[in-house]
Amino acid sequence: MLTQISPHVYILPFDSQRDRPNLGYIHGEKFSILVDAGNSRAHLNAMLEAVDEAGLPKPEIALITHWHWDHTFGMHAFSGTTMTQTKTNEILSILTKWEWKPEAMDERLKTGEECEFCDTHMKIEYDDITDIKVVRADIEFDGNLTLNLGSVTVEVTPIANPHSDDGAVVFVQEDKVLFAGDADTGDFYKLDGGYDADKFYDYITTVDKIPYATYIHGHLAPMTRTEVSALRKEIGETDL
Ligand SMILES: [Zn+2]
Repeated sequence: MLTQISPHVYILPFDSQRDRPNLGYIHGEKFSILVDAGNSRAHLNAMLEAVDEAGLPKPEIALITHWHWDHTFGMHAFSGTTMTQTKTNEILSILTKWEWKPEAMDERLKTGEECEFCDTHMKIEYDDITDIKVVRADIEFDGNLTLNLGSVTVEVTPIANPHSDDGAVVFVQEDKVLFAGDADTGDFYKLDGGYDADKFYDYITTVDKIPYATYIHGHLAPMTRTEVSALRKEIGETDL
């Protein structure tokens, strides 16, 4: 079931057991969009059913925050248009060539191309891992992007962050809601969940210039600015 965050914003809440992140829905008068496409066809469909049950219009665009599997592996099943920054599409291009068989997955764990946490959760989400399908987004952008949905404005800003080499935050101007992808989290691919301190401080300095009131991290409950500061303080004390 969807949770309403603000007049135009809803989420399908995260599920840690299956590593399903929060999926966003932004309701415009002209058209509506999804923020991230989920980790599988099943996850995407759960979102689309929840949108339908809430009596809201079908989303026409799925905007992707970053390349990680839990945000992108539902893209192939989306009948609308998918959109992401060029950098994310470049990384997805590499993943489209990956084979989804146990031997190939084991090999990628050995070479470090895949992370243990992702491998484990993919096997929980998928009964049959050969069902995994990776595609590139239909539309890519390089730099900032503004979407006028009708009565609501969405500003997309690529920001360097400690979590992945790509990454864009999505700000819903009228509602002051920010979707951050997983940007505050460490890097599971290169640093085993650890943090690059410079990237972390650069990220928080940049993102905090955006006048958000509600901050939506991919795998946490929505936070106020005060709660975000407390989380960052904790990260600073324990992980940096
Ligand atoms: Zn991520």
